[in-house]
Amino acid sequence: ERERLTRLRHTPAVTLDAQAIELLANIEQPGDAAAALRAGAVGVGLFRSEFLFMGRGGRLPDEDEQYLAYREAVQCMEGLPVTIRTVDVGADKPLDKGYKDRSLNPALGLRAIRWSLSDPAMFRTQLRAMLRAAAHGPVRLLFPMLAHVSEIRQTLAQVDLARAELDARGAVYGPVQLGAMIEVPAAALIVQQFLRYFDFLSLGTNDLIQYTLAIDRADEAVAHLYEPLHPAVLRLVADVIAEGARQGKSVSVCGEMAGDVGMTRLLLGLGLRSFSMQPAQILAVKQEVLRVDARKLADWALQVLASDDPAAMLAQ
Ligand code: PEP
Ligand code: MG
Repeated sequence: ERERLTRLRHTPAVTLDAQAIELLANIEQPGDAAAALRAGAVGVGLFRSEFLFMGRGGRLPDEDEQYLAYREAVQCMEGLPVTIRTVDVGADKPLDKGYKDRSLNPALGLRAIRWSLSDPAMFRTQLRAMLRAAAHGPVRLLFPMLAHVSEIRQTLAQVDLARAELDARGAVYGPVQLGAMIEVPAAALIVQQFLRYFDFLSLGTNDLIQYTLAIDRADEAVAHLYEPLHPAVLRLVADVIAEGARQGKSVSVCGEMAGDVGMTRLLLGLGLRSFSMQPAQILAVKQEVLRVDARKLADWALQVLASDDPAAMLAQ
């Protein structure tokens, strides 16, 4: 069994009908990249950079400290792409345990890109560190919680400014692809506009479910209503995947849904070709990929979308 799993690690993730599926890893610290490689990930689909910022008594990592952390992950991945998400603190990820979030409702408050854009100097410190890390291997920048086109424009302006600051200093940096998290229903509904600005998209289904269903993902009292298979959630996920495919741009899922083997067939049927998950989930998802015919799943996926009880259809 051990040997079989080792072999599986080096087996490309290809469906029976020869569709190549990209299986990427989610990491929280640069040191996790080694586990991603060991699990057979073909890149990092989500580096949650906020873990470098949390639990430090509010003292944020400076540019060099961040650069070294991002570079470590990039070098560890040996030429495979590393998708680094800009800091996503707030809501379920407070900067510090003792930190008092003054938002009335932290999930709807100044979190993620909103927090970054509220302090442009801090934001550009992170962007410069990421751009410098990109001199050591392929890096993709990912922005969390975007909902407004005005936020997209502000974000991209800050990236330009960060590059200009590096130029002025004569610092070395590399090219990057730019991507948006689709994790607010508003973003999913205007995905065409998002695709005008970004090279790739990543569906943050954890938050997309929370905001679509108005269920706080951290509130146990309503946990039974947190339903990844709600038809409204599936509709948004399906539409984003389809629009990305139409425009020839990569769409990934990096929420928990991507690592759930019970969801693999449905996501493949909806046209998803890139999944990012905890390293420990990769082999199981790959096993599922290897035994399906993605073409045959497409019609069935449409039926699941139209069903008022998708969970029952998946259980069959
Ligand atoms: C998500 O929302 O699905 C996601 C991947 O981001 P996080 O879980 O870090 O909010
Ligand atoms: Mg999220």
